[in-house]
Amino acid sequence: MYVRYIHYFTGIDTTMYIIRNGLSVFIIVIVLVACGVRSPTSAQSVISYNYTFHISRSTLPALFYNDMTYIAHVGAVSSPLVTINGSPVISSTYNLTTGDVVFSSSQTGQVVILFNSAQVPTNMIVQKAPLKDNKAWAWSHGMDDNVNLQNQIDLITAKGWRASLFVIGKDVSPTRQEPGWIIDQPGLVTLINQGWNIGDHTWSHACYSDQTAAEVTDGLAVVQQAVNASAHPDHVVISFAAPCFDTVYDPIFRGLRNGPTTLLVDELGSGSPSLMNIDGGDYMAGGQTATGFTSADFTIGRDTMIESDTTATQVFDWMSANAGPGRHYWFNTLTHGNHEATLGPVLNYADTHYGSRGTNELWMAPEDEIYSYLLVRDSTTVSAGVLTISGSATITPISTAIVSATATIAATATRATTVTPSVVVPGQTNTVHLPFISRPLLVGGTATSTPSSRSTAPLTTVEGLTPTLTLLANPM
Ligand SMILES: [Zn+2]
Repeated sequence: MYVRYIHYFTGIDTTMYIIRNGLSVFIIVIVLVACGVRSPTSAQSVISYNYTFHISRSTLPALFYNDMTYIAHVGAVSSPLVTINGSPVISSTYNLTTGDVVFSSSQTGQVVILFNSAQVPTNMIVQKAPLKDNKAWAWSHGMDDNVNLQNQIDLITAKGWRASLFVIGKDVSPTRQEPGWIIDQPGLVTLINQGWNIGDHTWSHACYSDQTAAEVTDGLAVVQQAVNASAHPDHVVISFAAPCFDTVYDPIFRGLRNGPTTLLVDELGSGSPSLMNIDGGDYMAGGQTATGFTSADFTIGRDTMIESDTTATQVFDWMSANAGPGRHYWFNTLTHGNHEATLGPVLNYADTHYGSRGTNELWMAPEDEIYSYLLVRDSTTVSAGVLTISGSATITPISTAIVSATATIAATATRATTVTPSVVVPGQTNTVHLPFISRPLLVGGTATSTPSSRSTAPLTTVEGLTPTLTLLANPM
């Protein structure tokens, strides 16, 4: 008879056979080097972890879009599952190359990311994505004056995209009197149902005279009427575009703002940027400037270059080439009617180069959706994350022969009962010792060894987030 001891060490498996035969005792030690013949007992331990943090949000104006995208770096793990307040998040993706879990939700509360890993997770952080779905840059397009817009609407819809219409209130007829020519109320309702943004372009398009508050409020009433008749009566109208880019409307519009309930997006013209760095700082390169988007009180401009040519594609190229950490862009454009000959190629270029048929770095959305995202983003706070070990570790078998043995090992192994991580200092790289990577294991005998080596896991804080590592349970 013999008793077999199996020890695990990094790179080396030691198998000891103690053979008893009458008065003679023969001890044969066989050392198998990792690069030679590895024992099937060299499987790694897979540990289940919980990474927990909290999302909170300061008071926001009434908005239709409340989604936020988060980027959680977990490293090379398996089966990450995101839950918020106990419910799984559907819009979650995991990229094994980057080690990032990206997910979106409108909820606040407790987030738990459950995953399995054979390695100790390191450098775990959670960040708010600058733009929805962690895209590199955004493009919004608007059309105003509700005249000759149907062909352009069709081009955008054919891409699966949505945009904004800024309507002149008095010209929105209650029924379809002039199909394809004047956008009437049934047409507006259809577009609202499809997720389009409908904005106020005043009641009569008065500019350079008669710019009254009633022009704004009466125009808004028509838009609100269409929203009320739609399948999304909760679609909060927040967009206003001044006719003739008339800046006289600016103080009138701002005077209508009343905390959380009134219009928020103020589209003007001269002096307002149509290309913005939504990370906050201005950026200039190659003669192109992206003006820092700084607050909810920001006014945005409308670039009309698409009405004459397709050079808007050069702005797309510039945004793609210059986007990066601290530089995410938002480009806002405008056309009136009958510009489908240039809008079409620009849409195709954006789609095939940077949309889902290209690099997929473009977030094409109506301006109210992008604007809302920025408001939500800047009002959202993410707490420091806490890493815990959950459940029991299992030793992954690499052959069926070891399966029964691992069950015995788990029942008799000696392991530490308490773990005290080193102090985690915010802003510095911290080292945390975990005792479970290498440990003595026993089958059919008595184990006397103690843990012989430990793993180290650097933990780094990023951008004010203070990660902590807490061990709530033993790894096995
Ligand atoms: Zn106009």
